Amino acid sequence: MSLVLAVYGKGGIGKSTTSANISAALALKGAKVLQIGCDPKHDSTFPITGKLQKTVIEALEEVDFHHEELTAEDVIETGFAGIDGLEAGGPPAGSGCGGYVVGESVTLLQELGLYDKYDVILFDVLGDVVCGGFSAPLNYADYAIIIATNDFDSIFAANRLCMAIQQKSVRYKVKLAGIVANRVDYTTGGGTNMLDQFAEKVGTRLLAKVPYHELIRKSRFAGKTLFAMEDTPGKDECLVPYNEIAETLMQENTPASIPEPIGDREIFEIVGGW
Ligand code: ADP
Ligand code: MG
Repeated sequence: MSLVLAVYGKGGIGKSTTSANISAALALKGAKVLQIGCDPKHDSTFPITGKLQKTVIEALEEVDFHHEELTAEDVIETGFAGIDGLEAGGPPAGSGCGGYVVGESVTLLQELGLYDKYDVILFDVLGDVVCGGFSAPLNYADYAIIIATNDFDSIFAANRLCMAIQQKSVRYKVKLAGIVANRVDYTTGGGTNMLDQFAEKVGTRLLAKVPYHELIRKSRFAGKTLFAMEDTPGKDECLVPYNEIAETLMQENTPASIPEPIGDREIFEIVGGW
């Protein structure tokens, strides 16, 4: 069976950038990886394949929504370090339901028998709304990973994700492996103080701290992972957290927990006081 990871976080927080670099770190350590973008933005695999690949919803449209006519080749592109990419895609803006598309993609993977074919399957999922189809990857995941930054809004989203994970853990095996602190700005002195306190409060930990770095920002638009960027000052330091996360996930007993989230009203008081 594949090790299934579900990466969640608020919109624009760096889920896809982080996901692609975790996939790359895992693949370069020898794992066969499938990364699945579950966001109508459909650019999760762009750093891996260097293109905006055909989405599941587009492929389904071509066969009049007859699932059984689709093969893995219709929806999977292979890119950097042999990583396979798949994008769920989204319905036309203003109509349809993005979550439905994600649910359809998760089902399609099962129909194609792909859950057994990879060492690692990483879902990169929109995390502002953890409802309907957007929560479906949690039904399959061994570990959820939350991407957050050191501010109230992303901690609020992280707390909602903890609620979803706690809820799902009643029926499914999913646990939270931890929080990746992204875009850590060491120049302002804030570092990760709020995230550290939040992690302790809900019973999880910081998996790694990824700095804010121009090279990471640029890699995203160059259609590359950081690993594939040319060697420039700072690159090696920025690769460290991604490699650390990969090593943690590949070990026999990855530390993980069922989080105990803060109440939706309580969080304003608690986090506001930090
Ligand atoms: P999401 O998938 O959560 O919507 P993205 O991965 O697309 O977010 O990232 C949003 C933006 O943030 C992109 O422009 C990306 O280049 C930038 N970004 C993400 N992580 C970092 C980082 N550690 N340092 C600098 N820029 C980053
Ligand atoms: Mg994204």
